[in-house]
Amino acid sequence: MELSRKLGLLAAGLACAFAAQAQTIKETPNSHFKPTGKGFGELDNVATEASSGNAGGASRAAPSSNLSFHGGPVMVAPTNMYYIWYGSQWDTASKNVLTNLGQHIGGSPYFNINTTYYNASNVHVQNSVTLAGTTTDSGTLGTRLTDANIASIVSSAITSGRLPADSNGVYVVLTDKATTATSGFCTQYCGWHDHTTISGKDIKYAFVGNAETQCASACGATSPSPNGTPGADGAASVLAHELEEAVTDPNLNAWYSSFDGKENADKCAWTWGTTSTASNGAKYNQTFGTMKYLIQQNWLIASTQKCVQKYP
Ligand SMILES: [Zn+2]
Repeated sequence: MELSRKLGLLAAGLACAFAAQAQTIKETPNSHFKPTGKGFGELDNVATEASSGNAGGASRAAPSSNLSFHGGPVMVAPTNMYYIWYGSQWDTASKNVLTNLGQHIGGSPYFNINTTYYNASNVHVQNSVTLAGTTTDSGTLGTRLTDANIASIVSSAITSGRLPADSNGVYVVLTDKATTATSGFCTQYCGWHDHTTISGKDIKYAFVGNAETQCASACGATSPSPNGTPGADGAASVLAHELEEAVTDPNLNAWYSSFDGKENADKCAWTWGTTSTASNGAKYNQTFGTMKYLIQQNWLIASTQKCVQKYP
């Protein structure tokens, strides 16, 4: 998930350095992009060459910015979510905000947006998410985590038996406010998702950072926040983003836009739709259980694709 657009300008110069190579190629209308899981695409050379090969003399259509189906799996079983609380600085109130989200996002009109997505057999995603397990890691790999470290944190939780190996699972590494991710937390993204093989299973996992003291403005930790926990309230929207991408594009080859590599939640990042004001002055747009949240909209697959707060 990329940074908040309104405050992401600080990072724009850095992003340009990474995007420069793709940018020159992106100028041609036939370039195709695929997701990285981090909210921005990378050039899909195979699809681009296939498209521009023009072998039969027929010209293919330029890629659309709408999402299209690319043949990979989606998560069609009820989803089990697992939390790994990483670091020693998680407080009870912050954990409650994200635990309550995990316990109530399944079955909600908001998560129901994902049921418009389907696999190659036309089987749709279900509106079912269970917070099936949680564990802690007090910070065994330090406070500056590489992408490989984050995969190791998931792997350790599974191989040690603290969490089951579940191919219908999404494992979320929730880092505390003292921990950063060195591939670009706060400068390139606020969270990301990926998959890997652990214990013989295809394991879907995500990183969700706590921006409270590191980059509140870039990753949505507002003050006041709906539950008075800026880091966790900001992380809630990032968590929802990565969860819905993991479910509809778990292996980065199912639902995305070839135009820019964006997945469903990328299309609606930092858009809220209609908001209300809580008694403490915080903006919110969703209620899960009895708690209020400011959660980004998600992308609806329908005849007209668009960002919505709920479905139907
Ligand atoms: Zn994303």
